Amino acid sequence: MIELGAPVLGEPEKRALAEVVDSGWLAMGERVRSFEQAFARMHGVEDAVAVSSATAALQVVLATFGIGPGDEVLVPSLSFVATANVVVAAGATPVFVDIEAPERPHMSIEEARARITSSTRAILIMHYAGYTMDVPAWRRLADEYGLFLFEDAAHAAGATGAVGVYSDAAAFSFFANKNLTTGEGGMVLVRGDAPRARMRLMRAHGMTTGTLDRVHGRTTAYDVVECGTNCRMDELRGALGLVQLQRLPEWNECRRGLSTRYRELLAEMLPEVLVPFDRPDPTVAHLFPVLLPPGADRRSVVAAMTGSRVQTSVHYAPIHRFDFYRRRFGALSLPRTERFADGELTLPLHPRLTEADVSRVVATLAEALGRTTGRPSREVAS
Ligand SMILES: *Cc1c(COP(=O)(O)O)cnc(C)c1O
Repeated sequence: MIELGAPVLGEPEKRALAEVVDSGWLAMGERVRSFEQAFARMHGVEDAVAVSSATAALQVVLATFGIGPGDEVLVPSLSFVATANVVVAAGATPVFVDIEAPERPHMSIEEARARITSSTRAILIMHYAGYTMDVPAWRRLADEYGLFLFEDAAHAAGATGAVGVYSDAAAFSFFANKNLTTGEGGMVLVRGDAPRARMRLMRAHGMTTGTLDRVHGRTTAYDVVECGTNCRMDELRGALGLVQLQRLPEWNECRRGLSTRYRELLAEMLPEVLVPFDRPDPTVAHLFPVLLPPGADRRSVVAAMTGSRVQTSVHYAPIHRFDFYRRRFGALSLPRTERFADGELTLPLHPRLTEADVSRVVATLAEALGRTTGRPSREVAS
């Protein structure tokens, strides 16, 4: 089976975990702190705050910047549901924005501008498939209207230079299927000492001291200065993150190379399949999404590919069409998002994939399309 995604885990991860166990200290400590500093350094920013997931990261971001009831937050509908769920959970209202075009399925900046009202407080952008959005342009839009700019950077770990640099905060995911994984885990890059300090409080019950301080006898008393939550990262995850971070640039380079190979083969063999984004677009190549030709029956294509032992997925079912969102906010129409989501297919992409695997995936897709649309299948030279 050619898997859709697969983490790279081996001896260094085992050793790192064993060291934590031997140390006798599992709760958030020195390793998590080192991971925060190394992650910030890689992304060219001052510091970072480690948390238990990207969802928790977005929740502490909204809490830190005081987003709540009465506030509107612009979000893409073409995203994982957490992007909107966190806004609803904060008591605010997500305002869904359509994508630019099938060639560029990022949230449209023109459409976002058109949806700004006197209640809008923030824009939450998402770097779909790891392709970096034009963050400086979004910063200018946010500044023009006095809004916060947040990034759902769950697909963008290792995207240096833009992600986490211009926004008020960027949230990363280290879930099992992301470019860097700690099983569950997340990180926030946040500008400014004061918001970062507030976020550290929000992550740990609003308490003024940590467990490590109390155990080391540095202090016994603490105050609670915020109504925080508990979404700390632990040392096992911190240790895994430190090991994985060292290899992240190499893995992202490998993902980019495989994506380029996919583009070459698809242009040659299946020009009717649209590959979003331009090759020179900056990316950490988290996913390889394609748009099937009009009239292709995706269910049959998926079934045929699964039958040929190639795993695929769909990113994403649009959030605004989920039952909860339809009930809560009524039926909305986002035609470009809907059209893209209905024809999108995500092909396997991970650092353990080979160029021969890529050829097999494309050959399998060609065969599946030929079979399901009645056209003769094409051979793929590999
Ligand atoms: C994975 C993902 C999340 C959620 O990340 P968790 O760490 O699992 O909470 C949020 N947004 C997007 C776009 C994602 O892909």
